[in-house]
Amino acid sequence: MGSERLETFICFVVNEIDIPYFRNMNFSSKLLESAVEEFSKLPGVGKKTALRLVLHLLKSSSTEVHNFSNSITTLKDNIKYCQKCHNISDEGICEICNSTKRDVSTICVVEDTRDVMAIENTHQYQGLYHVLNGLISPMDGVGPADLTIESLLERVRTGEVQEVIFALSATMEGDTTIFYLHKKLKDFNIKISTIARGIAFGGEIEYADEITLGRSIATRIPYENTLMK
Ligand SMILES: [Zn+2]
Repeated sequence: MGSERLETFICFVVNEIDIPYFRNMNFSSKLLESAVEEFSKLPGVGKKTALRLVLHLLKSSSTEVHNFSNSITTLKDNIKYCQKCHNISDEGICEICNSTKRDVSTICVVEDTRDVMAIENTHQYQGLYHVLNGLISPMDGVGPADLTIESLLERVRTGEVQEVIFALSATMEGDTTIFYLHKKLKDFNIKISTIARGIAFGGEIEYADEITLGRSIATRIPYENTLMK
């Protein structure tokens, strides 16, 4: 295969990688260019996909496009974060925290709302959650104060909490966050446990199947045990 054809082939296969062909698109309209620019800011969306999406919207009816943009604006303007667990919610207190059927003595600490959704799908967990809204990552300038850690400590301090379960990703950021949380929580008279690590969480949540995830919550282990290895 000649180098030019090979390049075209690679370009075809991995068309979302930011290859100069797409970086230097010549737009016939500034409006089109600006819309493509906005779409390409979304995670996982390259210029080529952005252009395809924008052209698709242009072909749609005005009602469809207005519904689309309205749903995003309404979402952004009206979404709330649960005052207790910080999960995304329509109300000040989310349905899980409000439920009388949940075990208030157990809190599962997760990175974001995708993890809550995944764990809820397993139907294996009846406790409450605490959404950190990120992980400690010095490389990205994210420190403990940027997360909802203080509010977690407050819940443990004042609530009926008997167990905190860490369900965070097995990455350096996940490890750092667990280590920090453990240091803050170890003097409280509570059980601290962790789900089996290696379960894909956060951005890779779709790779953790419900049975494996459910089992890893049911068979969680004391965090101290993982430190002895
Ligand atoms: Zn809540």
